[in-house]
This record gives sequence, structure tokens and C-alpha cells, in this order.
Amino acid sequence: MLLKGKTAIVTGGTRGIGRAVVEQFLEQGASVVLWGSRQETVDAAVKEIKEEHPSYEVYGMYPNLADASDVEKAVQEAKEKLGRIDILVNNAGISQSTSIYEYKAEDFDKIMKLNVNALFYTILPTVKIMKEQGGGTIINTSSMVSISGQPAGVGYPTSKFAVNGLTISLARELAKDHIRVNAVAPGVTKTDMVAALPQQMIDAISEKIPFGRPGEPAEVANAFLYLASDMASYVTGEILSVDGACRA
Ligand code: NAD
Repeated sequence: MLLKGKTAIVTGGTRGIGRAVVEQFLEQGASVVLWGSRQETVDAAVKEIKEEHPSYEVYGMYPNLADASDVEKAVQEAKEKLGRIDILVNNAGISQSTSIYEYKAEDFDKIMKLNVNALFYTILPTVKIMKEQGGGTIINTSSMVSISGQPAGVGYPTSKFAVNGLTISLARELAKDHIRVNAVAPGVTKTDMVAALPQQMIDAISEKIPFGRPGEPAEVANAFLYLASDMASYVTGEILSVDGACRA
């Protein structure tokens, strides 16, 4: 088991990529607090996991990611539940593909607040805990568009470029405290967002992916698992692409 005895917080852990990360971490022996935006979806996710695997140690929380003090409180509560925090996965995020001519300032603020500011809010209290513990690892969720950009919806790639900047800079600052900071940059991945598209559209997107198909959430979660584990003990400041070569 790659994460035996480790503890983790996973934001946006109710569905999609985050849910796959939660399930793989639990399967590999970690105890996990999953965060989501609403009590109902968080409770439902915990219940589903527990029904299938009663022995898994999994808890749910739903802090307001727009509120730094609420996030700080939730990090402290998670630490009380788990005893320590070895791994923080910042996965919650939203995307947008609005044309610049229709873009509103508040749309830009909204995407930056969740995709960038909220990461800073979770990281701030967590690094203090990790430093005291003698180390830990943080994994942020970037995107292939942080390398390629995208032709509409400029807020989303901008936010993911910021995620890369935060990741690489913090990796350099925190290495001396044995805190590794990395990011996973998924390509088109079959989450609710993509699966809800008409098959014709999925086929058109797939044609542009050199691998010929979108990624599965579990394939992306494998990268999180590697970075969270001691197999990546000397890996920090890395933006790990999992995109079927789509970024080019
Ligand atoms: P998803 O929509 O299936 O899941 C998003 C998760 O974030 C959910 O658990 C949701 O509860 C949470 N969330 C959304 N808004 C929130 C809010 N305001 N407060 C708290 N939690 C909130 O999406 P996904 O495809 O699994 O995406 C997960 C991450 O992967 C995101 O950061 C996304 O940008 C990134 N990503 C996804 C793809 C893709 O193709 N699916 C590609 C590249 C990057």
C-alpha cells in the first residue's frame, strides 16, 4: 500500500477527478477528509464510499472556499479528525469558455477566487501544520491549458497558469521544510462535465487528442497517487501532464 498510515485533505472530492483521487488514496491505506461545496453531495459521497468499504476512514466537510477564515477552521478540524495532515490535494475548480467580448469582470473574479485564491487559503494554514510535523506534500490541479492556453474563456487558462506559478514558487520556498509541492495538469478527462456532452461532440474532441480518447478520472488520479507517495520523495515543483499528448 503506497499511502499506508498517511492522512489527506482532498478538495472537490465528491465527484470527477477529486472523487477518483479520494478512492485511490483510501484504497492505498490513507485516511481522507473530502471537501465539497454542499452538505448533501458531501454526505452522499461519504455514504457511498462507506457502504462499499466500511473499513475506510473517510470524513466529509463543506467549508466555504471563498472565505479564508472558514477554510482555516476546516483545515484545523481536519487535522483534529486525522491527527496530522500529510497530503493536501487542491482539486476543486470551475471552468468557463466565454468569449472575451462577452466576458464580465465578475466572471473573471469568480474563476480566480476558486481556482487560485482558494488554493492559497488552504495552503496557508496547512504548511504551518506540515512544517511542525516535519514535512508533507501538496498537489494542486492545473490543466493542459496552462501550457497551451485556450481560444476562449481566458479566465480559466489564466487561473491555471497562476496555479503553476504558485506550485513552482512554493516548491522552492518549502523544500527546506521537507514539504513537496507539485501539480497535475490533466487533459480532457471524462468527468460529469465532459460526459454530459453529446457523443458527437466527445468524438470531435477525441479526434484532436493524439491518444484518440479523453482520459479517465482514475488515470489522472494515478498521477496524484504517485506524487503523494514516497515514490516521488525527490520530486517537487513538477507540473505533471496527464493528457494523451494533447497540450502541444
Ligand atoms: P467536476 O465538476 O466533476 O468536479 C469539481 C469538484 O469541485 C466537485 O467536487 C465540486 O463540488 C467542487 N467545486 C466546484 N465548485 C466549488 C466551490 N465553489 N466550492 C467548493 N467546491 C467546489 O470537475 P473535474 O473535471 O473533476 O475537475 C476537477 C479539477 O480538474 C478542476 O480543478 C479542473 O479545473 C481540473 N481539470 C479538469 C479537466 C477535465 O477535462 N475534466 C481538465 C483539466 C483540468
